[in-house]
Amino acid sequence: MYHSVRADPPPATHALSVHPDRFAAQLDALVELGLTPVPFGALVAHWRGVADLPARPVVLTFDDGYADFHTEVLPRLVERELTASLFVTTGWLADAGPADRAGSPLDATLSWTQLKEIEAAGIETGGHSHSHAALDAVRPAVLGDELARCRDLLEDRLGRPEQVFCYPFGYSDARVRAAVRTSGWTGACAVANTLARVDQGPYGLARLTIRRRTDLPTFRRLVAGVGVTRHYLADRALTKGYAVVRRTRASLSARPMLSAKPTLSAGPTPSPRPTPTREQDRP
Ligand SMILES: [Zn+2]
Repeated sequence: MYHSVRADPPPATHALSVHPDRFAAQLDALVELGLTPVPFGALVAHWRGVADLPARPVVLTFDDGYADFHTEVLPRLVERELTASLFVTTGWLADAGPADRAGSPLDATLSWTQLKEIEAAGIETGGHSHSHAALDAVRPAVLGDELARCRDLLEDRLGRPEQVFCYPFGYSDARVRAAVRTSGWTGACAVANTLARVDQGPYGLARLTIRRRTDLPTFRRLVAGVGVTRHYLADRALTKGYAVVRRTRASLSARPMLSAKPTLSAGPTPSPRPTPTREQDRP
């Protein structure tokens, strides 16, 4: 699971934005290891018994629809004749009409014209909701609207039926999964940070978070399925550690509003979503 590939990302996406040179090295490592990228839809079709896959398939996913997919990711995929799946938050798109604009993108986003070019280059695109809402936490009417607007815009503007979906933040529950299924999507991606298995079902593809700090030896081990559980346990601890450091620094800074209310004794703020299968997809 990727989000952004940029040399100099803004702070909001920094932790999940991979340097372009490292991304290129990761693609080369996949090829060298004999892995073949396939679109998520092909994996879903295989799981449903209607398609064959290469011997060692891997699905490369990109969430949110940042503009760097067009400038940094696409050329590196095309150069190597590799494919991927891109999940777009329709209300975030750069040229969304005034009535369609929704949510707050964390960085520059793709345009509809670029999405057409990306699809023409053999990249699968799919839905990632309309405003990037946490779908397990919204009212039923909002859930329906988030899915319908996303699906209808993608189908109308790109002229093909929607196939695959990706839950914003990876959050889903039985209600969300049922709504995605009845909206016509054949499969959906979660996060989970474990290897994908058929028993997770087509509406709960587990993915591995690739972060800016994921170095090449680690990447090679993860895609080979080695030490995945151990890595993400350590990764979670490290993320939590950094969060404490950030909060501590903030509390010790010269800002009177913060120093007036020390947070040192309060400890880390409890995560509102502690379930490990629901890792937030932005820092
Ligand atoms: Zn997202």
